[in-house]
Amino acid sequence: MDTVSPAIRSRMMSRIRGSDTAPELAVRSCAHRLGLRFRLHVRNLPGRPDLVFPKHRKIIFVHGCFWHRHGCKWTTTPKTRQEFWRQKFLANQSRDRRNIAALEIDGWTVHVIWECETRDMAALEIRLAKLFGLDTLPASVSRQTRPTRRPSGAPRSSR
Ligand SMILES: [Zn+2]
Repeated sequence: MDTVSPAIRSRMMSRIRGSDTAPELAVRSCAHRLGLRFRLHVRNLPGRPDLVFPKHRKIIFVHGCFWHRHGCKWTTTPKTRQEFWRQKFLANQSRDRRNIAALEIDGWTVHVIWECETRDMAALEIRLAKLFGLDTLPASVSRQTRPTRRPSGAPRSSR
């Protein structure tokens, strides 16, 4: 079902080949907090991967749910020009498969993190830690989950 407004659609369109999207920035900042070293958008690798971790020989693609057809609730399909979109999505999906296969043949371990999985930063950081075999949780996670202290209820002074 086409539930996306023209404004949102045009924003999505502008991001088709864009970098530095919000989901990508979320993954980057988590990886950074975990102390992982990575390179961005490596051009000489298939698919120009979003994050490349040379030391771990790992690659992370941060995929938009709409363009790469995650299958979640954000994977909407426009009502108009259906054949155009069908072809476009098929091409995107087969390109993704081709790129990942080529990288794996070269000895890379490839992970895909979906846009919808980047909303919960604490969960994302835990997931990344697991991917890289980091068993100690970084301090930032416990800081994020610690409840914020309310100001003490000082009695109002009477007039
Ligand atoms: Zn999704």
